[in-house]
Amino acid sequence: MKFGAKDVFDLSWKSLLDAYSCTECGRCSTACPANQTGKLLSPRKIMMDTRDRLEAVGKNIKANGEFKDDGKNLLSHITVEELRACTTCNACVEECPVSISPLDIILEMRRALIMEDSNAPQEWNGMFSNIENNFAPWKFSPEDRADWVKG
Ligand code: SF4
Ligand code: SF4
Repeated sequence: MKFGAKDVFDLSWKSLLDAYSCTECGRCSTACPANQTGKLLSPRKIMMDTRDRLEAVGKNIKANGEFKDDGKNLLSHITVEELRACTTCNACVEECPVSISPLDIILEMRRALIMEDSNAPQEWNGMFSNIENNFAPWKFSPEDRADWVKG
């Protein structure tokens, strides 16, 4: 079983169709708080990168009769820094005039990073392990959770 998306093969047909439907108007990037605050992320670029990768895969299949591994994937176009900059606010989805969701692609790629590659910043790994063991992001036992009332 695979989690998330490393390449276009792992994305839903809706996300693939979205990539070809994008008008490149840029309304998503204008509304994106990460983009507005100078982060690397541009949801418009996410759609264009997905389409570029789709085009490369299509040419590969046409030339070889089937897909031959080219040593590349979606992460050859979209960087980890871009993916981590997303706040999942959904503004790009709400602003898009043709109902495209750059967020779906970002989430699937982040899912693959974390669940397939264990690729997360050290601080996140600490939080994940606390949630697993203590059922909360903090590093203390759930039995001590109400102790603050006594203080
Ligand atoms: S969901 Fe992510 S990409 Fe979309 S507007 Fe919000 S921060 Fe930007
Ligand atoms: S708002 Fe929609 S159509 Fe416009 S660039 Fe963004 S994803 Fe593409």
